[in-house]
Amino acid sequence: MKNLNTSAVNTWCPGCGNFGIEVGLKAVLSEMAEQGELDLDKVVLATGIGCHGKIADYVNVNSFYSLHGRAVPAAVGIKMANPDLTVIVCVGDGDVLGEGLDHLVFAAKRNSNIKVLVHENRIYALTTGQYSPTSPKGFRGRSTPTGSLEQPLNPIELMLASGASFVARTYSGRLAHQKKMMQEAIKHNGFAFLDILQPCFVYYNTYPLYNQNVYELGPEHDPADSQQALKLAKEWSYQDSGKIPVGIFYQKK
Ligand code: SF4
Repeated sequence: MKNLNTSAVNTWCPGCGNFGIEVGLKAVLSEMAEQGELDLDKVVLATGIGCHGKIADYVNVNSFYSLHGRAVPAAVGIKMANPDLTVIVCVGDGDVLGEGLDHLVFAAKRNSNIKVLVHENRIYALTTGQYSPTSPKGFRGRSTPTGSLEQPLNPIELMLASGASFVARTYSGRLAHQKKMMQEAIKHNGFAFLDILQPCFVYYNTYPLYNQNVYELGPEHDPADSQQALKLAKEWSYQDSGKIPVGIFYQKK
């Protein structure tokens, strides 16, 4: 295994779901490099702003710390300038579904060959707990003390509607599944969107919900079937009830 650790001191809170994503990403990059599927010198990790963004300091590959919501256009530019690079984009839900939403939609529409990994904690965590586009209606946080009035946005549905050629979801608490999804996203030849459910232990502890409700899609789901993917996407609306399917919803071959 390649050592992808850095000397940066990790400042995530104990118990944060970001640790699972960091461990998973390092393992995937390392294994793919060992198997000759990836040249680590040609990997670029672009990040947005938020708790998730610190991953750029913790994974020892080329990295680019972008402005809030602008990691996707930075990544698209990097890929256009040097198509030989594998460009991975780590973003937060507030970051890429709020400020950066238009960039995300157009990167999907254009099938830009970048891999977007969303640290989906469904809250603005770095700024201490304001509701984000995927917080459930009724969420009580710093900016919504009496509860959010908005229905959450469903990023899986949005990406399918935008023409994304790879749309998947996983959970940072299921390391083996998360690794597989990351690998598939990186290998996909085109735009890949992977929503990683990631609990924020401090401001929105979704561990109990995900541990109980997440289930993995089986072979009965055909990822080439876009209508079936859309139906599955509607199964969980990012409100906090119901079963939560994870896996590859759609992949255009
Ligand atoms: Fe993780 Fe939440 Fe702490 Fe940020 S505030 S490091 S998302 S637990």
